[in-house]
Amino acid sequence: VVSIMTFTYYRKGVMHEQVLPPEDLAFASELEAAIAHQEFYLVYQPQLDLTTGALVGVEALIRWRHPQQGVVPPVKFIGIAEVTGLIVPMGAWVLKAACQQVAAWKDGALSQVKVSVNVSPIQLRSAGFHAYVQQVLRETGLAADRLVIELTESAFVHTDDKGTAHLQALKQLGVKLAIDDFGTGYSCLAYLRDIPGDYLKVDRSFVNDVPGKERSEAVTSAIVVLGKNLHYQIVAEGVETQAQADYLKSLGCDLVQGYLYAKPMEAGVLQQWVRDRQTQPL
Ligand code: C2E
Ligand code: MG
Ligand code: MG
Ligand code: MG
Repeated sequence: VVSIMTFTYYRKGVMHEQVLPPEDLAFASELEAAIAHQEFYLVYQPQLDLTTGALVGVEALIRWRHPQQGVVPPVKFIGIAEVTGLIVPMGAWVLKAACQQVAAWKDGALSQVKVSVNVSPIQLRSAGFHAYVQQVLRETGLAADRLVIELTESAFVHTDDKGTAHLQALKQLGVKLAIDDFGTGYSCLAYLRDIPGDYLKVDRSFVNDVPGKERSEAVTSAIVVLGKNLHYQIVAEGVETQAQADYLKSLGCDLVQGYLYAKPMEAGVLQQWVRDRQTQPL
């Protein structure tokens, strides 16, 4: 176990040394051990074509099976993982495990699905990320265009020309890029214009409020129109009601993801879900 009194990390392109409060240090040690002990696993949430109802992708989401606390959701540990740099090995594991799983699905709809993997800005900027993606694709045999890298807007905040070049280089591998949680945080229309993205994910907080809340409707419909004009495929996340789905469909949204259709599931449960399911228009 390395000494973790201080952590070195990058923010706004500048190296920082972070001294963590004792409880966070202890938590960081636990996280580090959890990586070594392989206490993480992935769940997969279906992404459906809003017109045909076809399963087109799955988003891989990390979970921590804590020996004492049970299943810990990512909101509880991604922040500390980022601050400590542990997100780099953790994220590397996620990428490989997700690609391995999806490449192993050889029949039915799952043999064609894309897999979306969330990549932290810190992981994205870490040395060797591009080479690692290439290595994972080679080792797992997954077709590059079946991997979608989901980046939150904060990954683009310091996008200068070099930042865009980095994303262009990833695109050269053939992978797809998604802008996650669009509309919250560091929304900037210049990113939307400049980033070589393929998918735009409308944040759940907007989806929650439509139809019905006029101001959220205005923002949501504007995001969809803008995204479509920039040739993004539009994904609505957090769809929980049929009224939301109908409204999003009327706007021309392409894909949906949400509890209305399915919660994130472990691989075996997802396989059963796919077997039991009849594809029909949503
Ligand atoms: P995200 O990438 O925006 O993922 C969508 C989150 O919304 C997931 O939460 C998912 O379970 C949840 N969700 C999906 N449909 C619904 C719905 O209809 N209603 C509601 N209320 N929630 C819904 P989860 O799995 O807890 O993940 C939270 C966040 O943690 C993710 O947001 C992502 O930012 C981060 N995360 C998850 N896995 C990873 C990972 O492997 N690496 C990194 N860097 N971040 C991850
Ligand atoms: Mg995501
Ligand atoms: Mg999201
Ligand atoms: Mg979100």
